[in-house]
Amino acid sequence: MNEPHVYVTGGGFAGVEAARAAFRRTPGARIHLIDRNPYATMVPALPDVVSGRVRVDAIAHPLEEAVGSATRSDAGHGVEVIADEVERLDLASRRIHTRQSSYDYDYLVIANGSAPAYFGFEAADGTLHTVHSLETARKFRGAVESHLRANPSAPIVIVGAGYTGLEVAACLTTGAANADARPDITVVDVADSILGFLTDGERRRIRSYFDSIDVEIRTGTALESYYGGTAVLSDGTRIADSLVCWAAGMRAQPLPIDGEVERTRDGRLRTTAALQLPQHPEVFAAGDAAALWKGDTTARRAVNFSYYSGRRAGANVAAAIAGRPLRDFRPVDLGWIIPLGEESVGRVFGAFRVGGSMGLRMHYLMCGFRHFAGARAGEFYRTALRLSRRPDPLDLGRTPERKDG
Ligand SMILES: Cc1cc2nc3c(=O)[nH]c(=O)nc-3n(C[C@H](O)[C@H](O)[C@H](O)COP(=O)(O)OP(=O)(O)OC[C@H]3O[C@@H](n4cnc5c(N)ncnc54)[C@H](O)[C@@H]3O)c2cc1C
Repeated sequence: MNEPHVYVTGGGFAGVEAARAAFRRTPGARIHLIDRNPYATMVPALPDVVSGRVRVDAIAHPLEEAVGSATRSDAGHGVEVIADEVERLDLASRRIHTRQSSYDYDYLVIANGSAPAYFGFEAADGTLHTVHSLETARKFRGAVESHLRANPSAPIVIVGAGYTGLEVAACLTTGAANADARPDITVVDVADSILGFLTDGERRRIRSYFDSIDVEIRTGTALESYYGGTAVLSDGTRIADSLVCWAAGMRAQPLPIDGEVERTRDGRLRTTAALQLPQHPEVFAAGDAAALWKGDTTARRAVNFSYYSGRRAGANVAAAIAGRPLRDFRPVDLGWIIPLGEESVGRVFGAFRVGGSMGLRMHYLMCGFRHFAGARAGEFYRTALRLSRRPDPLDLGRTPERKDG
């Protein structure tokens, strides 16, 4: 009998876990994991690329090692990692078209994650920065370094006062302060208040923290245009010589799919409770790419939901191959923490509130716990223990006083 070919597109939390789970349960199947990068990324640590609190090389890990012992099988079977860009999925012919080749699958797990949502906004000269992948975060860091080298108090505009925008603003402030710079940071958001899901008390706490570090948050304000370094806001303010980081929202990766699929407004794939596409039961979706249902609402984008939905999708592929019944994915919400430089806000295990350095430590512990590799996890455990460490400070061409604890 021919061994079934299982392809997983996307090597993040969901994809790696799907490949591992499918491999563990069906050693006879040929499992292939395709990602545009040869490494897996600890996405929640991306804002730390500008804070310098975590070494950049601890944030990524080779995918071959991330899928672990699965790739070290002697039988010639294992998870094959393919570094390639998926360009199109043809569900009718069960074929994946990539930049370099095409692949035929028997089972497919789509786990391509998210991409920034621009809501039609275009920077006239295409110079918006984002912090959604290691590549974009490093590019932003490089731009910040040259921007602040020229002027240590230069303006930086962050679009979006959601958790990513606020994390980036806080990390920028602490990272720049460590290099003796004080950028003039403005966070703008079209919504009338920040982080609608927080209590008034939590929002006040966040506001007063940003006041204390001199970061202005302007709600009810949009970025109207950005050209030649000048950001024009909807309240008429013009901020010249500025750098702009776009953190206004996320959507599913825009991956063209030939075949009948249902998507939510933000592009996530609708699945059955067992994570199959309703019209294509041999295709599964997991992580940010899927609309994961939590009761009547879709679950927020989060590492835990991605990791466990990936595992469930991989296990269900194995069950389908073996002719066993599939099991539903039931998201369990362990809570959330928003790390903000020297402050944090969060709720874990239901209603238990965390904040301050306790929340920060828990965030870095979780990054270590969920890391793709033990060796790099150690970096996050050390960060959790010694928050004052800055092993990878911004290089502004000066020699700041060392503050690595
Ligand atoms: C800045 C930031 C901070 C966050 N902080 C937290 C946090 O503190 N806690 C939390 O729980 N969640 C956080 N999240 C959300 C969390 O990171 C995501 O929910 C999670 O990474 C989703 O996992 P995933 O496997 O679905 O996708 P990802 O981790 O994004 O992985 C998707 C993979 O698919 C690959 N890929 C995409 N398109 C293609 C293509 N066409 N071809 C080939 N490969 C492709 C990408 O290279 C990537 O490796 C944060 C997100 C961001 C952006």
